[in-house]
Amino acid sequence: MFVSLKHMGMDLKDKAKFPKVVIIGGGFGGLEVADKLADKPVEILMIDKHNYHTFQPLLYQVATGSLEAESIAFSLRKNFSEQKNFRFRIAEVTKVNPEKNIIDTTIGEIAYDYLVIATGSTTNFFGNKDVEQFAMPMKSIPEALNLRYLILQNLEEAILQKTKDEREPYLSFVLVGAGPTGVELAGALAELRNHILTKDYPELKKEDMKVYLVDFLPKVLGPMSDEASKGAYKFLKEMGVEVMLNVKVEGYNGTEIRFEGGKTIPTKNVIWSAGGNGSYPRRYFKRHYC
Ligand SMILES: Cc1cc2nc3c(=O)[nH]c(=O)nc-3n(C[C@H](O)[C@H](O)[C@H](O)COP(=O)(O)OP(=O)(O)OC[C@H]3O[C@@H](n4cnc5c(N)ncnc54)[C@H](O)[C@@H]3O)c2cc1C
Repeated sequence: MFVSLKHMGMDLKDKAKFPKVVIIGGGFGGLEVADKLADKPVEILMIDKHNYHTFQPLLYQVATGSLEAESIAFSLRKNFSEQKNFRFRIAEVTKVNPEKNIIDTTIGEIAYDYLVIATGSTTNFFGNKDVEQFAMPMKSIPEALNLRYLILQNLEEAILQKTKDEREPYLSFVLVGAGPTGVELAGALAELRNHILTKDYPELKKEDMKVYLVDFLPKVLGPMSDEASKGAYKFLKEMGVEVMLNVKVEGYNGTEIRFEGGKTIPTKNVIWSAGGNGSYPRRYFKRHYC
């Protein structure tokens, strides 16, 4: 617990004497810690791979083209420009050396007195290598932009195909994982199909674009209340999303997704929102905790 500057009779200009708190990660966690330490007798150094904070809840709108990336990216330096005890460095942390109180980063070693690891999570493919190779994750702005390009590119490709069967893989969107990300993205893709598709691509038919939402649990929004789950299910069905529950993905080769029991869907658009892993500077955690 930190006491306030006033109680210690110290001024911020004495900051060289203050303990140094290094915060790895400028996500929600890192921002909250830096903010709570604003008037405390500490020197804060935040380190992130990017110089911006990503507002992840709106990534799906970037992926479907209804928001530009800069609308959900906020400069970390600018955010804390008024905070005197805050500094920022753009770097990737590769290792933590707790015995020396030092972290290894892409810009060299950095010493700390207190270390906050707020590095968020990465996509978990549960060891399914072919899914990892071909499916699209959506946890960062670059990934959301990749997804946007994939969607637009495959709509263009669909126009070039001669038959309905040839168009099917380009116009089938399979979202694996019916948590908030999968549900939001399924809804946004269904809106694109229902309201935009035939205006922008008059050569395509609305009914030829399919949106599938798949989960191995028996309901959408599994960990949420029954009311939220039933409400989301109803809205998705009304929007024309094909919700496939109690269904487990077995594999994906880039053109066809396979489910346990033998069912397949031809698709070039598989979006994986089925799980997350901690995103730690792994070398340290493997050695000390795993
Ligand atoms: C698509 C999507 C939608 C979501 N919607 C909602 C929602 O509606 N409501 C809700 O409450 N939550 C939502 N969440 C979850 C919420 O965004 C996360 O819980 C939250 O962002 C976690 O904050 P964090 O600070 O732990 O990690 P993050 O926000 O992921 O931040 C981690 C930061 O650490 C940095 N970093 C990682 N590794 C390193 C390294 N080795 N070196 C340097 N920097 C590193 C990253 O660049 C990143 O800036 C959503 C998540 C996603 C992906």
